[in-house]
Amino acid sequence: MFDELLFEALSRPKTDIGDRKRIVGSSDLVCAFKAYHSKVNPKKRALKDLLIFSRGDGREQTIREAMMWLHQKGKLGKNTEMISQLELKHIDYPAFMAHLDITLMNQRVMSIVEVKSTMNLPETLYPGWFYQGTFQVGLAKMAYPDKIIRCTILAVDEAKGKHRKYICDVDWQFDHLVFNELVEKAKKIHAAVRANDPSGVQPEPSLLCSKCEYAAECPAIWPDTRQPLDLSSHEDSIAEYATVNDTYNKAKKRREAIKNQLEFFVHRVSGDAANTAKTLFGQSHGFDVKLQAREQFRVSSDKLKEKYPEVYADEEIWDKSSYSFLTVKARKDFNERLEEEKPSQTKGKKKVAQQPVVEKAA
Ligand code: SF4
Repeated sequence: MFDELLFEALSRPKTDIGDRKRIVGSSDLVCAFKAYHSKVNPKKRALKDLLIFSRGDGREQTIREAMMWLHQKGKLGKNTEMISQLELKHIDYPAFMAHLDITLMNQRVMSIVEVKSTMNLPETLYPGWFYQGTFQVGLAKMAYPDKIIRCTILAVDEAKGKHRKYICDVDWQFDHLVFNELVEKAKKIHAAVRANDPSGVQPEPSLLCSKCEYAAECPAIWPDTRQPLDLSSHEDSIAEYATVNDTYNKAKKRREAIKNQLEFFVHRVSGDAANTAKTLFGQSHGFDVKLQAREQFRVSSDKLKEKYPEVYADEEIWDKSSYSFLTVKARKDFNERLEEEKPSQTKGKKKVAQQPVVEKAA
């Protein structure tokens, strides 16, 4: 009963925006395919997922409360009003709207703060965040034509507590062309939902795909063309995985070499005791060292098969599970490109042949 109530509470809309099918919001512009399905075939999330996502909401709420406190103390500028969830609508298409996380407004300037919680802080804006910022600034310009509009995307790393600001203000040079393209995309989403026909909306893969509940039916994720998936939006993560995995493999080898070296020395100086004692102790200036002989027992499947073939054949005794195997290998053309781009830096050095080949069972 408690789980059901918790589920109901966590599933409630964050803002009272009415029927989602009738409107297109700034977050819908990240992926038109997802936006369509989230309106026409909304999926019920598991309670576990809702609890995971609530972590991000918590970070956003923390920022909001901090800004509210600063505002009350007058630290965000005199005569500045702070508004939470300000609703903006397109002048010609009122169904296209945005709800701004935090807005600071004075006579001259309107500052939008959009808070994002993420597992990784990207160096530059994700395209989806850029679209949201552009759309919000575009609608704000329509609603407040006499004001200077600024927009900051404040991203918080959920795990590490780090944050980064991505400024999209007057210096960012609001791009009308991009805004107009987003309005066209909003029109397509709106029309597709009204017609109950997704043929006019396309998937737009990005890092957000990893959290998308429509990935299972998304043609961008499971193409039937036998062409490789375009993972260029995950370039940073893939490169980091390759580096981390290479370091991990090297560390494992080095650990084994050091262990063998120490074990050899301890055995040599312990003489016969090394053959009988189960534990040998040692000390250096800074460390206690313990070398233990431990026994382990496991069933040999070869011997089981040979001695008790009928038991071996009984499927019920086997716990079957599957695991994924991820291989990341630097591409040849990537290496060549790097070589071309950095002729002076790579000259005379071992070049990108150092790019690690990674094989990892997860
Ligand atoms: S998996 Fe990615 S491309 Fe596909 S619908 Fe989801 S967000 Fe869009």
